[in-house]
Amino acid sequence: MSPFFIEFRDPLFGVIIFFALVFMITISSYWWTKYKSKEKTKSLDKFLKDFKTVPTTKELKILISKGEMSEKSWILLARLYSKNGDFEKSIEIYNELIEVTDKSNIREMMYLLGKTYFKAGFLERSKKVFLEILRNNPRSPRVLYDLVLVYEYMKDYDAALDVLEPLDELKNDVSLDSLYLKAMKVLNENDLSNELKAYELLELYKIDGNLTYMIFEFLFRINPKLAWDNLDSSKSELLTDIFWRIDKKDLDFDIISNNGYLRELYSARGDIQDASRSSVFEFDMLINLDKKVHATLSFEYICDNCKNTFPFAFNRCGNCHAIDTNTISITLVKDFHRDFSEENNSFQ
Ligand SMILES: [Zn+2]
Repeated sequence: MSPFFIEFRDPLFGVIIFFALVFMITISSYWWTKYKSKEKTKSLDKFLKDFKTVPTTKELKILISKGEMSEKSWILLARLYSKNGDFEKSIEIYNELIEVTDKSNIREMMYLLGKTYFKAGFLERSKKVFLEILRNNPRSPRVLYDLVLVYEYMKDYDAALDVLEPLDELKNDVSLDSLYLKAMKVLNENDLSNELKAYELLELYKIDGNLTYMIFEFLFRINPKLAWDNLDSSKSELLTDIFWRIDKKDLDFDIISNNGYLRELYSARGDIQDASRSSVFEFDMLINLDKKVHATLSFEYICDNCKNTFPFAFNRCGNCHAIDTNTISITLVKDFHRDFSEENNSFQ
């Protein structure tokens, strides 16, 4: 017998069989795992492809009615579409969900639909949806608040003020909302002259000193003397950007010389030399630079409530819709305007 031939009963034969089996199991397990992972990737790719190529209304109808995806997932998807600006698709999803959802969820779906109509700018449709919800559930503060917003955007301030009544009955503090809507109504009154608007706004301001920015921005633009005469010095910081942009001819130097903040601000702007330093870093820099460097101030507006930043001042935050939460953030920037005018002068 060949010395290389392993006997059937040889213990080495069993060891070889054992290792052969282990090898085969490892190989097959490896290939199985690889195959499954490939299948998974394929189905994920298919899923992503379905949503990259936005499903048509008909496809959506079928997908939603099949019930393969939970309502929560559909709502998440609708929100995602809305966040990316595809309101049409988001609206389609909510409309389909309303068709198939339980009675208990319809109100929530309708509310989300109304909100999306509002975001998309379909104010009339949004109003109809909110009114329909309120027909059966009139004591819903969040729907009432949203309806106020819709009426405000439609410039129907009387209707918005009417909606504040049930909110007041439901023990919500609507005093600031009421004041703001009355001020908006005055500002948008076509038959009222700007001078009369200024006096009416001042009357509203005198109620409890709210809406300082909204009212004084208009007063300084239309009637600076009236604005200076009624200015509450303690609120000067709220109006920093407005003060910074007032024409020199419209300044009231008596009031400025009696107000520490304004003395520093106008010293920084170079209209007076009454302050040699300031606790506001940007003012202090400008005072010390004394026009040697072409620098000026730039402003950003932060909502006190949601902390979002905006390039323009606002009276109602565009993000969280809070009223009178505008806070000014000052930055020192290069004065391109001065550079430009000096360059032009040098050519003369
Ligand atoms: Zn906000």
